[in-house]
Amino acid sequence: MASRPAVPDPLAGTLAARYTGVVLDIDGCLIRGHTPVPGAAAVLAALREHGLGPVLATNNASRAPDEVAAWLTQAGLPVEVDQVVTSVHAAAALLSHDETVLVQGTRALREGLEARGVRTTDAWRDADVVVAGFNPELRYAQLRDSALAIQHGARFLATNVDTTIPAEDGLWPANGALCAALSTTTGVQPEVAGKPNRGLIDEATARLPDPTRRPLVVGDRLDTDIAAGTAAGCDTALVLTGAADAASPRPGDPTPTWVLDDVGGLLRPPPHG
Ligand SMILES: [Mg+2]
Repeated sequence: MASRPAVPDPLAGTLAARYTGVVLDIDGCLIRGHTPVPGAAAVLAALREHGLGPVLATNNASRAPDEVAAWLTQAGLPVEVDQVVTSVHAAAALLSHDETVLVQGTRALREGLEARGVRTTDAWRDADVVVAGFNPELRYAQLRDSALAIQHGARFLATNVDTTIPAEDGLWPANGALCAALSTTTGVQPEVAGKPNRGLIDEATARLPDPTRRPLVVGDRLDTDIAAGTAAGCDTALVLTGAADAASPRPGDPTPTWVLDDVGGLLRPPPHG
């Protein structure tokens, strides 16, 4: 009886094969606006099929994980809810149970915090903390109340301070730009829950099938994705489909382990080394 031919490993020789799991950023990495980055669907499918996760870690707290999964799936990137971690998780971890929170953000942010036992208020005078997350429906009265609470001594906690959202037609103002309005008014800089802090990466790697070994963190921003991955002790890959211009890093930016034209580079041989 002839022996069965060996099944070729489709990941053999690829960058992904060097790792035991992959944490992916979403905006600017898998999708721009509502348009998937070319090859992103194939990458998600291949990583999943080979037990490398992936887990998606986004600084954007405006959507709940189930909304993110539904949005990506509808856009042609099939994702399960348990593959999504947002900066809501990281923000809740920085709040104590005796603090009352004024939420400047979406319903999803507020409900995400409340689901983790955080007490919220609509009255700025009652707030011990202002949690500011991205909200495309933000109104002036909310900015005003947040500024008043911070002036009167509330902590100022941002889910993230990404300055831009890469879209099909250019860069849109992100939560960092909205938080800058509060900083300009109050003179107070926010504490930051999401990337570049490692908490979000730790949450994501804990969900990988093999969380303890050798994860790779992938994203389009040196100052958040790559900084957070580095802080968490992981190798990192910068993709050039979003916010970053690898040719012009700013002082203090970390150096990624790999630089890829796009996320499809995970399924190609390593670009160097
Ligand atoms: Mg991004």
